Order: sequence, then structure tokens, then C-alpha cells
Amino acid sequence: MSMIGDLFGPWKGFTVTFRQMFKPKVTTRYPKDKRVKPQRFHGRHVLNRYPDGMEKCIGCELCAGVCPANCIYVRGADNPVDDPVSPGERFGFVYEINMLRCIFCGLCVEACPTEAITMTHLFEMSVTDREEGIFTKDSLLVDPDGTPNHPLPETPLIDINELKLGDGWMRATAPSGRATFEGIEAWSPSARMGGMAPAEPSQQQTADSGRQEAASKKPTADGGQPEEESS
Ligand code: SF4
Ligand code: SF4
Repeated sequence: MSMIGDLFGPWKGFTVTFRQMFKPKVTTRYPKDKRVKPQRFHGRHVLNRYPDGMEKCIGCELCAGVCPANCIYVRGADNPVDDPVSPGERFGFVYEINMLRCIFCGLCVEACPTEAITMTHLFEMSVTDREEGIFTKDSLLVDPDGTPNHPLPETPLIDINELKLGDGWMRATAPSGRATFEGIEAWSPSARMGGMAPAEPSQQQTADSGRQEAASKKPTADGGQPEEESS
């Protein structure tokens, strides 16, 4: 190795370090600064209600059956005839999720036939006792006006408002996955703080308007006015 090579050789390894020192930092000062989470973020679950306050859960146990971590425990009971809890014959009498075992895969949400269980943006759930990691129905079920509950006190780490972003990822899903449904409520209405989103057009309505739009753009054989589509 030449003399110059001998001189700069030991510093060569630092070139990457020096280069990185002058680039913008990508780290955030968590928990002081929190990143905006993706719309489909899988955080803590909530059990939803219909706008009239009735519980959406019918105690069918499908969520418990599909859960790969076996961390949901549900027991259904017959609805009291005079004072039904849910619109179905039965309701979720006991509902528990062991958050220590949950892998936040979202399969329970996919399996639920009534869209009772959804996920939120809250993931800060540190506990000091294993028992506290089991969230019961009292914590999971939202109030009749849609206000969510949480068993842990609000701290700089726990932002309860993130529980109100209760269906961000399901709003991102859409009938037939069309991009035009981005941000539009795709599931059945829920009791929610701040009012309800306007109703979404059905797939049939969307298909009809798509056909009408296509027909209006269809050129005629002579290049004149668009042809009416024969039904
Ligand atoms: S998110 Fe996955 S692991 Fe957690 S309760 Fe639902 S199905 Fe089970
Ligand atoms: S949350 Fe949904 S899938 Fe689970 S028991 Fe209730 S209705 Fe059934």
C-alpha cells in the first residue's frame, strides 16, 4: 500500500458514517412525537353498537373460532324478550380478549358476520399484571353514543382518542376493492362520536352509475352523439 493509502486507510471506513451524519434524521422522539399510523393499522379492538345503541355482537363465537392465538373467549345468551341487547336472538354475554396472546392479525374482524368487532389505532397497552392484559366486555364495548372505554388510565403513552379511529382500516376496504371507495364507510353504520358518515352507495348503484357513465362516453358508428345502451 502507498504512503497516501496508509494515511487515509483507517478513515475510509468512516465515510459511510460521515455521509449519514448530514442526512435528515428518520427517527422520531417517541412517545413525544408519534407518527401518523396507516389507515389500516391493527390496534386494540372495540365492540361496536348500532346507531340505536344496540350491541352488534350476537355471541356467535366465530371470532373465537377463527382466532389463531386462541385468545378470544365468548359466551352467548338468549336476548331477553322485553329488553333485547342485540337485534339477533342472542347476544355476547361474556366477551374477553387476552391481549397478551393476541397477534393483531385482524382475522376476528374478518370473521365477524355483524361487524361487531373492529380494530383501532391504539397499541399502547402496557400492564404490570397479567390479569390486566385480559380485556373484558366492559372495556371492549363502546358506550351507546359510541364513546370507547379503556381499562388503563390515559397517560402520555396512551392516547384514548386513538380508540375513536375505530374503523380506519375497514373504511379503507371497499366493495370490489375500488379506489373510489377510499375513505368511504364500507360497513354497516355504528354508534359513533361526532355523527355518522353518509350512507355508501350499494355495489348495484355503483355498477349502474358506471354503466351509465360508459354509455355516455360510447361513440356512435358515425362519430356523432353517444348511442343509448340497449338493455
Ligand atoms: S387480532 Fe387475531 S390474534 Fe388477536 S384476537 Fe383477533 S384473531 Fe385473535
Ligand atoms: S364479535 Fe362478531 S364473530 Fe365474535 S361473537 Fe360477536 S358477532 Fe360473533
